[in-house]
Amino acid sequence: MMDYHTHHPGSYGGFLCSVQRSDWDRVAEASGMIPCFGVHPWHAAEAPVTQIAYDLDEYLCRFPQAQVGETGLDATPRYRDSLNQQEVLLQVHLGAAFRHDRLAQLHGAGAWARLLELLRQRDRCGTLPRVLLHAWNGSHELAREFLSLGALFSVGVRELSHPKAAERYARIPADRLFAESDDAPESFPRAIGMLTMLRGDIGTH
Ligand SMILES: [Zn+2]
Repeated sequence: MMDYHTHHPGSYGGFLCSVQRSDWDRVAEASGMIPCFGVHPWHAAEAPVTQIAYDLDEYLCRFPQAQVGETGLDATPRYRDSLNQQEVLLQVHLGAAFRHDRLAQLHGAGAWARLLELLRQRDRCGTLPRVLLHAWNGSHELAREFLSLGALFSVGVRELSHPKAAERYARIPADRLFAESDDAPESFPRAIGMLTMLRGDIGTH
């Protein structure tokens, strides 16, 4: 089973997400990983959006195996002041993912409901790309709404250790919910173990 959201190349393979524009070349060259190009919402306030839009198109043309991310929204107190810039930057990423038919890796801390609204608007216009919601920690009711838009989810040890983990994750279909390590590559085997236990599934993955 591969790592569905990480920032560190590793032996499991998987989606290697950039955080800043300056990461893209390193990410593109990492062997055995699926490169993802994007600028994290934490850096939206200072991001040169037009240049990123131009570069993203170019990189996605040049690397047909690449996907889009990390992008998304963060409405936690430290980042909520840049939400307007985050939305503009997110739309640039979603537009590129749709045009190039790639998966977009989304961050949504404190902002899942707004993210759902934006994805629904795109769905109505027929411009919704495939999306993966990383570090998913919303309710099952909200998960159902995203599932109806075709979304995938990934979770790591942090999310799977939450007291509500079973309630949140056990009913998401196995082919839509995957393990991730994010910024803690050594945690990946434990994330797989916890996810497997949560499903009451003793099979190997
Ligand atoms: Zn991440």
